[in-house]
Amino acid sequence: MRCPEEGGLVFCYDHTEVLTWRHLNVFQHRCEITCRLPRCKCRQCGHIFRVRPPWEGLSTHFTKEFEAFALLLMREMPMSTAGKLRLPQF
Ligand SMILES: [Zn+2]
Repeated sequence: MRCPEEGGLVFCYDHTEVLTWRHLNVFQHRCEITCRLPRCKCRQCGHIFRVRPPWEGLSTHFTKEFEAFALLLMREMPMSTAGKLRLPQF
């Protein structure tokens, strides 16, 4: 991991409070990811930042309306068919 400001080497500074992310349900079970993330400090500039976990922000460019529509399609048809549809701009 490198400093996002200038690319310097970092070390583990501390950890965040417990954070929770809501995930799509797994079958009928509510699914949440809960953890404390490390915060790093840059050895060169002293910048402190939170590590970005791989599950955070993977689809931030989709609106909630689009996600709801995509889930509706995938509930009603095979995913391969839903993926071939030409959709209007959201
Ligand atoms: Zn830095």
